[in-house]
Amino acid sequence: MATTERDYYAVLGVSRTATPDEIKKAYRRLARQYHPDLHSGAKKAEMEKKFKELNQANEVLEDPDKRKKYDRYGHRWQEAEAYEKAREQAGAGQRGGAGFHWGQESAQGEGQDFGDFFENIFRRGTDTRRGGGSPFEGFAIQGEDLETTVRLTLREVLTGVSRRVQLSEPIPCPTCGGTGRQRGRLCPTCGGTGSRAELRTIDVKIPAGVLDGTRVRVAGKGAPGHNGGKPGDLYLLVQIDPHAVFQRQGSDILVQLPVWPWEAALGADVLVPTLTDPVRVKVPPGSRAGAKLRLKAKGLPTATGGRGDLFFTLQIVMPPSLSDEDRKLYEELARAPHPDPRVELLRTAGRA
Ligand SMILES: [Zn+2]
Repeated sequence: MATTERDYYAVLGVSRTATPDEIKKAYRRLARQYHPDLHSGAKKAEMEKKFKELNQANEVLEDPDKRKKYDRYGHRWQEAEAYEKAREQAGAGQRGGAGFHWGQESAQGEGQDFGDFFENIFRRGTDTRRGGGSPFEGFAIQGEDLETTVRLTLREVLTGVSRRVQLSEPIPCPTCGGTGRQRGRLCPTCGGTGSRAELRTIDVKIPAGVLDGTRVRVAGKGAPGHNGGKPGDLYLLVQIDPHAVFQRQGSDILVQLPVWPWEAALGADVLVPTLTDPVRVKVPPGSRAGAKLRLKAKGLPTATGGRGDLFFTLQIVMPPSLSDEDRKLYEELARAPHPDPRVELLRTAGRA
């Protein structure tokens, strides 16, 4: 039954505005993933089902004509089309080809012949006079999905965030009632388009740990449906602003941590930034450049409810200028006996 079928766009994981190319790519990727030959056991049966569903969705969405009809009527577009044709043919003689408009009340007595049969099949979900609880939803048309971009900072990713999103959606022009014309002229309010953009503000929650480029689905917050159809969904495309200090790697965070040579040599207790408040960490004596210090569970939330880690990569830096005192100390260090740090380098180079 229509109500148990998944939306074809959802099956392919693409937006309602996806280009034919995006649809083709999504189909190929999923077809490879679901192909029943690549699975065995219980998984195989599940994949067979998915594969079939995928092919059904693709067959409609890859065909511009079918896709248009699907967008308009949903899963039962074929029946809708057949019905429309039948009505047109039946009505052409009697009613001057007035045709039939989906969603328009047709309880004015016409179409009593075969009409009732179709009426019962295509009864709209909102019609309560004949028992709205009919299992057939008729041609309730689902509202369009809307998509908008949301920019987040890394700190917002840490906590999750509630965002106020403003959507612009078309509503019928109040002056002309959506006809685009008024007293035989173009409607002055909408300029003949019949619709007007209305701003709608909604609050949405974005979960902590969200990845850059994720599309967060907010069910039922898309454009309103027609004829009692469900509203579409709202998709938030998450874009995370890069941070100058905190580099994200999955749920881990990397930070370059500058230390003085003597801090690396002797060890030190240093104040370091985290996604929340700075904390003190110990740089162990004898640390090398590039060594990593780890603060467990100070990264971002993971999908499984844990936390990633925060890593500091040691960078050994020199003071911008040497004081006389510094110079004296370095000279003393230089006089002390040390092995040549380039011995290994020279040996390896000579072997090549
Ligand atoms: Zn108007």
